Amino acid sequence: MVNSNKRRRSRNLKCSNPEVSILKGIPASPGIAIGHAHILDLERMSVKEIDIEESRVEVEVKRFEKAVAKTKKDFASIQRKIANQLGEEKARIFDAHLLMLEDTMAIDETVDRIKKQKKNAEFIFFQNLENVRKTLLDTGDEYLRERAVDLQDVERRVLRNLAGDGQESFDRPEGQSIVLAKFLTPSDTAQLDRNKVLGFVTDLGGRTSHAAIMARSLEIPAVVGLKEVTQKVCPGDLLVIDGVHGIVIVNPDERTLLEYEEKQKLFIEHDLELLSLRDEPAATLDGRSIELQANIELPDEVETALSHGARGIGLFRTEYLYLARSDLPSESEQYEAYASVAERMNPDPVVIRTLDLGGDKFVSGLNIAPEPNPYLGWRAIRICLERKDIFKMQLRAILKASIHGNIRIMFPMISGLGELQEVKKFYYEVQQELREDGIPFNEDCHIGVMIEVPAAALVARELSQEVDFFSIGTNDLIQYTIAVDRGNEKIAYLFNHFHPAVLKFIQMIITAGKERGIWTGLCGEMAGDPLCVWLLLGMGLDEFSMSPIALPEAKRLIRTITYKEALEIANEALSFTKAKDVEDFLRKQLHERLGEIPL
Ligand code: PEP
Ligand code: MG
Repeated sequence: MVNSNKRRRSRNLKCSNPEVSILKGIPASPGIAIGHAHILDLERMSVKEIDIEESRVEVEVKRFEKAVAKTKKDFASIQRKIANQLGEEKARIFDAHLLMLEDTMAIDETVDRIKKQKKNAEFIFFQNLENVRKTLLDTGDEYLRERAVDLQDVERRVLRNLAGDGQESFDRPEGQSIVLAKFLTPSDTAQLDRNKVLGFVTDLGGRTSHAAIMARSLEIPAVVGLKEVTQKVCPGDLLVIDGVHGIVIVNPDERTLLEYEEKQKLFIEHDLELLSLRDEPAATLDGRSIELQANIELPDEVETALSHGARGIGLFRTEYLYLARSDLPSESEQYEAYASVAERMNPDPVVIRTLDLGGDKFVSGLNIAPEPNPYLGWRAIRICLERKDIFKMQLRAILKASIHGNIRIMFPMISGLGELQEVKKFYYEVQQELREDGIPFNEDCHIGVMIEVPAAALVARELSQEVDFFSIGTNDLIQYTIAVDRGNEKIAYLFNHFHPAVLKFIQMIITAGKERGIWTGLCGEMAGDPLCVWLLLGMGLDEFSMSPIALPEAKRLIRTITYKEALEIANEALSFTKAKDVEDFLRKQLHERLGEIPL
């Protein structure tokens, strides 16, 4: 850790605006980091236009081709590095980059135009990519828009290689620092040295941006989506980033600094203490066992789930296998992914949720036209029931994988009994087809529904007759119950899992499950909020599924209370009529029983 006097000196030397400010962004990766700002200059380079003599044109073309070849080598080596560090799945992000370097419009056309216009390769390539970028941005397709970021990555590297200083696309921080950038492309993130990067902060991007996903995998604290942080911070400014709450403090005063140094120490100690509980059971003091499971997006996240003590996967968001690519994953590709997770977790369960596309997740292989209300539109099971070809491929892959472990299947966005019965009918047809083809699968594979639409919560009793389990998707249940778009920052203050209406729905769902004798889990973000653990436990929830990094704290909380006490807490919490009162009450409970914990 840097000595605070030294920090202060360097701040005063470098920053023209030593005002303390607190900026609020999106928490992308937990932890507290304190260090000096290193701002990455990732802006596009300016490119000069130069005429080339006829006799030099072939040399210019060769120079361009050499730079492209070098760029391919660079990306292939970054891809290998990421595959070693974070697994093959994450490394596939760079497939798109490599494909762009084969693209006719980007590459062949540049060569043609160098020959025709007799201009330097930098200028023609830059102009050409502007056109490709414009085409991508104009499509309105989320996948293709994301590719515009990759394109910039490719562009920068080719231009650097043309200039002959190929290795770096930005100044690396010399010492340990907090890296700030407008946005970070996957290759920028991959180049960051985790021993030097204490944390990172970006203007753009959300929790599910590639950079955020990588930060979580690398366990580097990060806050994203701060809009203009790169404008507000000067190089060398002292920063505190709180990746739990999404806060960045610029030039903190001595008191704040000491406070955060203490918090950071507590956070690290607390983390280590929690991890020591990894192999202990998740059971209350009076012996009630709770299923504590992890949410994953990609198969290689299973390792993080296991290292944080997950005893099962409560939500495998399979749509991530469909994202960041231009085609759809084949049946065998999906089978491999599901079987690998099931095998690795066996005998613990793996809940595979069928495709939940639409809303804010789009793929280009599936022409989802822009809709005025995507969250209320063609989404999840609604897409699957119309595109039965895609649905069938996925169900076949899951069923085939079911012999490799304890797989359960879950259907998202179910809104009523008729819809669920239609899904089940199709599911049984797919099973029958496999039988006829002599393909083995687990005949007793459990099926469940996500309860995330208020209508489904209201008819939970009817739905419970048809399934083996419920899993409450509070992220969507809250958005639909309170009519608050889960991704809209302007109304984020309304998105609140303590709202008594949300709690009533949860209680209703758990009760319906119990009456029918099926288990109920919860896999929305709420499950991982330490303030909610005792509440949900007391409400009778059987299974919690959350981001792996939230598991150790949840386990500790379960292990420090009796079920009877949790029941009392839940009863009292449910008697309040305002979200704020519920939250204050739960915070007080936690504080009284456990003292200060770094939340
Ligand atoms: C939910 O809605 O709570 C949920 C877990 O699913 P997702 O966040 O993927 O919509
Ligand atoms: Mg959902």
